[in-house]
Amino acid sequence: MTRPVPAIVILGNGSLATAQKIQQFYPGALIHGLTGRVEGADRVYREFGATLRELYQQDTPIIALCAAGIVIRTLAPLLLEKGAEPPVLAVAEDGSAVVPLLGGLGGVNVMAREIAAALEVSAAITTSGELRFGTCLLNPPSGYVLGDLELGKRFVSDLLAGETVRIEGSAPWLAQAQLPENEHARLTVHVGHAERAPAAHELRIYPRNVLVAVAGEVADASAAIRQALRQAGIAVQSVACLLAADSEMAGSTLREAALELSVPLRFVSAAGAATELVHHAIRPVSIVGDDVVAIAVAEQPLEPSQIGRPRGRLAVIGLGPGAADLMVPAVKAELARANDVLGYETYVRMAGPFRADQVLHCTDNREEMQRARHAFELAAQGRSVVVVSSGDPGVFAMAAAVLEALHESSDAAWHNVDLEILPGVSASLATAAQAGAPLGHDFCVLSLSDNLKPWSIIEKRLDLAAQADLALAFYNPISRSRPWQLGRALEIVSQHREPGTPVVLGRDIGRPGQTLRVTTLGQLGVDQVDMRTMVLIGSSTTRVFPRLDGSTWVYTPRSYGDKLTPIQ
Ligand code: SAH
Repeated sequence: MTRPVPAIVILGNGSLATAQKIQQFYPGALIHGLTGRVEGADRVYREFGATLRELYQQDTPIIALCAAGIVIRTLAPLLLEKGAEPPVLAVAEDGSAVVPLLGGLGGVNVMAREIAAALEVSAAITTSGELRFGTCLLNPPSGYVLGDLELGKRFVSDLLAGETVRIEGSAPWLAQAQLPENEHARLTVHVGHAERAPAAHELRIYPRNVLVAVAGEVADASAAIRQALRQAGIAVQSVACLLAADSEMAGSTLREAALELSVPLRFVSAAGAATELVHHAIRPVSIVGDDVVAIAVAEQPLEPSQIGRPRGRLAVIGLGPGAADLMVPAVKAELARANDVLGYETYVRMAGPFRADQVLHCTDNREEMQRARHAFELAAQGRSVVVVSSGDPGVFAMAAAVLEALHESSDAAWHNVDLEILPGVSASLATAAQAGAPLGHDFCVLSLSDNLKPWSIIEKRLDLAAQADLALAFYNPISRSRPWQLGRALEIVSQHREPGTPVVLGRDIGRPGQTLRVTTLGQLGVDQVDMRTMVLIGSSTTRVFPRLDGSTWVYTPRSYGDKLTPIQ
């Protein structure tokens, strides 16, 4: 199984060299540096605590180059919650000490040893069982799972107290451990996929060597699978994955069953009986069950990622205006899981940095439909694909193009893709927030680009929106190929609005070199606006007042107040 890529978190430039040494050992791991303190990090963060907790909750292994105490204090509030428990390590800034802190069952000691070896020091392993036996019995390698953790803990403490152990069944990693083996021992480690009655003094370890194939719709799939396993005398813990035909991909029953059983769900293109699906996926030792649910047992643990393929995923995401802290966490998580990232080059770069295993497909801004189709082609192969937009993907951006491509397609593989649109902070909202609340009452969002719609429609909408006293947000206000449109738009608005109406111009908001300018409709010149500018025009009630720093607050009150007279 591929292990999750750790995040290396540093607080100052003093730890950068150590961080880079560790990074060489974990290709794809990113160095997260505190903004203003670290130069040369892959990602910058503002708040150490929030960053560490977010990584932890996303189940990302954490290597923090700082005092162990800081890490413990920061993560303490999360430790009582159930949920993610990734490995967490503290490493001395000069690389002289490696301390595994949390995630004993997630392999933290293995990581500690790896890092210590890379830094040529020894890891501060404190787990007695592991020190004594050279392996953590409670944390079998991928392909094996421990039956009962509580029992396991007692088992290890009995071993530490001097008892011996007998091993039944085979697991190569156990053979390598230095367990105090004795064929007459009272304690037994039993490795096998058969369902057995619980026995005193027996620790069960299940190999994940069972595949369950389900053909067709089954009403309560997880109950049917459990029953079939029971009948076959096979432990549910040994199930490595569920398998179904491609035609079942979009259905929810199997997805729910896989979730309930905590196993991956894979697909093969073959249709037909469950036994046929099995033969397309693995070479089983034996098959039991019927045409609907077939259970196949393999000789060795199965690697689910090598069996068939997963349901592909396509997420159309909004990066927000640009600043990392204005990107929603769901979007960050989606970027982390992506195999492929598609988009206009500037936005793809904004979404990075990426790991070496992630494939970037940068295209011209105008090739929207082509990009959307390409995204479906990749996702239909079972890949996890992200299409990036700036701001919100549903606002003059890729979400509509992706849906249009799907709507036009009759390819079942495209319709099977797990499609999701993840929102972002749109430029109008990011700009409004910096100015105050100019869009605090009803407002209208318009793109002034007549590339994709007739100019006459734009004029009509401008006229009616201005007449209706809506505050206005203009996207795509001007460009080299559309030089006169903004001037004409302002003329139309001015027919219904006073020259003193507040106007906000936000340029590159949330990006380096951002500017925010507050002016009035009468003073606004088209030369103050370019294609990276957001234009917000107030309504008749929009007001301004000075801030102490010399700039201006702009807001549109929630109420018409003494202007509660109908508009003529
Ligand atoms: N999907 C994007 C909008 C794409 S249209 C969103 O929701 O924000 C592109 C237009 O958005 C630009 O011409 C500009 O008017 C505006 N825009 C996008 N990002 C901006 C930013 N960071 N600052 C100001 N305006 C921006």
